[in-house]
Amino acid sequence: MEYRKLPHGNEQISVLGFGTSSIGMAGEREIEAAMTMALENGINYFDMASADAAPFPAFGRALAGNRKNVYFQVHFGANYQDGKYGWTTDLDTIKRSIDWQLGALRTDYIDFGFMHCIDEKADFENALTGGILDYILQLKKSGVVRHVGLSSHTPSIVHQALDAGILDMLMFSINPAYDYAGGSEPNYEAESYAVGSAAERMNLYRRCEASGVAISVMKAFSGGQLLSAKTSPFGQALTEYQCIQYALDKPGVVTVLPGVRDREDLKRILGFVQATPQEKDYSILGTFAPQEATGVCVYCNHCQPCPMGLDVGLINKYYDLAQAGDELAKSHYANLEKKAGDCVGCGHCDSRCPFHVGQVKRMQVIHDYFGE
Ligand code: SF4
Ligand code: SF4
Repeated sequence: MEYRKLPHGNEQISVLGFGTSSIGMAGEREIEAAMTMALENGINYFDMASADAAPFPAFGRALAGNRKNVYFQVHFGANYQDGKYGWTTDLDTIKRSIDWQLGALRTDYIDFGFMHCIDEKADFENALTGGILDYILQLKKSGVVRHVGLSSHTPSIVHQALDAGILDMLMFSINPAYDYAGGSEPNYEAESYAVGSAAERMNLYRRCEASGVAISVMKAFSGGQLLSAKTSPFGQALTEYQCIQYALDKPGVVTVLPGVRDREDLKRILGFVQATPQEKDYSILGTFAPQEATGVCVYCNHCQPCPMGLDVGLINKYYDLAQAGDELAKSHYANLEKKAGDCVGCGHCDSRCPFHVGQVKRMQVIHDYFGE
């Protein structure tokens, strides 16, 4: 398992996380067994926005003796008082629900306290002024909450939260269908989540990385629609591993949270750890993604190997991040052994790039920007 460090902290987070949205139906014994299996295989990041209350007590039992090795995303606004998920902005209900979630998980602290599912401006303002954020910050002060998070599908809301400088973690929906929604069918049912153009969405990921705000990814398979040619907005299917790699290549992303229904699902997802580069290669996207995907480097490194040893994807990522104001990206670039100035313009990468990026020209631009 690969781990990525939380920028605002020392936590090392597994790139494969565990989404609990659909596991409630499996029953507590199966949920407990699935969590045990996840822990044994190095998963340490668990999102607790579930459709049912069942994962909480099951996780609480499976966790025994392992609490310090696990990170929970707990949602202030997900209510399980009647056994099923309900969304609420009522502060008293949120307080009761958080108390219940802590008790069921058999823990006295929350690694990531999230303002939950804030997609509308009015809801965000309510979270800021109606007491939800204050409550999370108060718990943070007393050590109950370790980090502040937000789950949202809306770039403009995330930008507002980034402006406010309150976040350590963002839970955001990232997949090729949402990123390139401009090419989707007008009535594509996920369209309401696919807010923002591809460029706007990419800018958001870069701003998160530049601000040290990590991203945990929800809906990496677009609710399963990308996995079938019949439902994919591109008319062609991608695999789970391609979608996971696609999300992990985005700036700021530390973990992807596939929804797991049982151990069978988990076993398949864990196969990603051993999957070959070919199995994770999503460059086929370049052949059917819409026009706006063309000419933009997505850092996939399908163009490797470069005869001069340049890491084309990483050089492009650092350049884009530096443009977005990430000072760290400049020093990361400075530490690269091979830089844009080492490019000899052979054009191999241009001929291999499925997204038709012109790297010969771009390497010159990057070299001019950074110098040596
Ligand atoms: S130039 Fe093309 S193939 Fe190479 S990393 Fe960028 S998008 Fe991928
Ligand atoms: S054009 Fe430059 S970056 Fe691309 S493969 Fe050739 S030397 Fe490497």
